[in-house]
Amino acid sequence: MRIGIIGGQSTPSFIKNKESLEIETKYGNIYIQISRLQEHEIFFVQRHGEKSNIPPHKINYRGNIEALAACHVECIFSLGTVGSMKKSIAPGDIVIPHDFIDFTKHRYYTFYDDSRVHIDMTNPFCPFLRNKLIESSEKISSIKMHKNGVYLVTEGPRLETPAEIRYFSEFADIVGMTLIPEITLAREKEMCYASLCIVCNMAAGLQQNMLTANEISVMYKKLEKNVSKLLQITIESIPDIERNCECKNLLSGAVL
Ligand SMILES: [Zn+2]
Repeated sequence: MRIGIIGGQSTPSFIKNKESLEIETKYGNIYIQISRLQEHEIFFVQRHGEKSNIPPHKINYRGNIEALAACHVECIFSLGTVGSMKKSIAPGDIVIPHDFIDFTKHRYYTFYDDSRVHIDMTNPFCPFLRNKLIESSEKISSIKMHKNGVYLVTEGPRLETPAEIRYFSEFADIVGMTLIPEITLAREKEMCYASLCIVCNMAAGLQQNMLTANEISVMYKKLEKNVSKLLQITIESIPDIERNCECKNLLSGAVL
């Protein structure tokens, strides 16, 4: 199967002997690293661009997803760092979200600007990929995994205020900036999509000190090895057969 990985920080360590490809899309050129893992072909995209310098609100989300679709990728694992809004979710934990709330403001949300397409969001994350991630996490004893979670997406690039976090935490568990519109665009391409969220800090007002970008990257470095191992075990557990979930038929019934 052709499996995409969208990363926010470094490239997972199992992506070896890679070939780099520049895919031309109408939204711009996207760099993809291609490698193999067992019978699967892996397509890795650095979300923040080749030089990893594009901020969350300026990411070429449509280009990234269009390029993966052009490579006939069927499933996407998305890696991202988030802040926790719940005491039960600590820095160092991993959350596999099952739902999201969108508080972004200025992004390109759809591939369909000239037709009426309304993609269903009843199960925004692919249940099959989520289960595979959850099952695989049980094989790594040092991982503390949360099997559910609501991801609230902010526009950024600023972090949130304590009042915003009090408000958001009534309805959501983790907060980050990059899930939207990545997940909705992937669904418009009928791809399976699941997110592996790495908790790097407590959100504003829930920890003593001020939040720093460096703190996020230091925590990510600590967890990097486990995240890579989890992803590898998960991908190895996916059978190379035709998908059996509803993601592959999302457009039927979505077009007016
Ligand atoms: Zn699916």
